[in-house]
Amino acid sequence: MTEPTEDRTLLVTGIGELVTHDPAHGASGVLTDAALVVSGGRVVWTGPAAQAPAADDRLDVEGRCVIPGFVDSHSHVVFAGDRSAEFAARMAGEPYTGGGIATTVAATRAASDDVLRDGARHLVAEMLAQGTTTVEIKSGYGQDVATEERMLRLARELTDETTFLGAHTVPAELAHDRRAYLDLVTGPMLAACAPHARWVDVFCEPAAPAAFDADESREVLDAGIRAGLLPRVHGNQLGPGPGVRLAVEVGAASVDHCTYLTGDDVAALAGSSTVATLLPAVEFSTRSPYPDARALLDAGVAVALATDCNPGSCYSSSMPFVVALAVREMGLTPLEAVRAATAGGAAALRRDDVGTLRSGARADLVVLDAPSHVHLAYRPGVPVVRTVLRGGRPVV
Ligand SMILES: [Zn+2]
Repeated sequence: MTEPTEDRTLLVTGIGELVTHDPAHGASGVLTDAALVVSGGRVVWTGPAAQAPAADDRLDVEGRCVIPGFVDSHSHVVFAGDRSAEFAARMAGEPYTGGGIATTVAATRAASDDVLRDGARHLVAEMLAQGTTTVEIKSGYGQDVATEERMLRLARELTDETTFLGAHTVPAELAHDRRAYLDLVTGPMLAACAPHARWVDVFCEPAAPAAFDADESREVLDAGIRAGLLPRVHGNQLGPGPGVRLAVEVGAASVDHCTYLTGDDVAALAGSSTVATLLPAVEFSTRSPYPDARALLDAGVAVALATDCNPGSCYSSSMPFVVALAVREMGLTPLEAVRAATAGGAAALRRDDVGTLRSGARADLVVLDAPSHVHLAYRPGVPVVRTVLRGGRPVV
């Protein structure tokens, strides 16, 4: 994600529909017959094409739609092994419990750096081809000091948004001694991982025996905060629970999943700076009920959409698919879904330089092979992403 060093300016013009999320362009932030100017890797001007200033270079997108690059704020793309048989069994009627993670932990511990790096690179390239220009990557399949450290070191090669998730589940060999695993996660493992991580995360889910309850989760987050990491939480995925309230209490940037929320949870989120990150491709892939995104938006909660790309509960890297699900299954308008998948993801990572096409934002933009953003949901499964620019440079 290097910035261009050249100082030539680029005029992107012929934009049939430009989604900026810039309140200077009205409540929708959407312009038609628009243009955009990039300088030094940043957006420096947006407005009507007829009023565009001159620039050194020119890209005419011939009436297509331009949106900000997607910000996928939740992924687990460093792993080894294959769990397609588990998916097939689930589709044949076996319930999802999260227990299959042990398969991935064993394969990831056994894999070389090269195998893990190649797999993660492949998935990040797959994401980029579908318009994702910022991605967060978690550890959590090592569950020992060496492998957690390795996962984060490899993730750091691909993104600055790395998350220490040693407290994903208690590994099988310590199932009889949770205290020992918590001591490891909050002690030597945290010390080894913190230099490679920006965030600390925990799977706060008392309904899952291998995950963590509220007190254990608070202990993990507090230790991470003391080590200089910023908190985020996996919560309320498999049933109602304490994850959302804990996230709000510790000032987490985001609480992710939010599939089972009470009215008190929604009210707590509405009164906080914590983003509710929804991962509807997980519900799709585990045949579970979808979160009530409408209730969250109507209550004034900041909502993000992300893939949760991982080998167990959701092996999709596609933000366009997530947008389509959010519209079809969760009642978001297409524009609300695009905003949640871009500006929402940025808020969930506490970033103000990505996720919008306001002046000053990084020139991460996606040209759709379509006249409007609605086509992301209207044409599910179709590769509508035509061109991706990152920092003003074509990368797809
Ligand atoms: Zn996750």
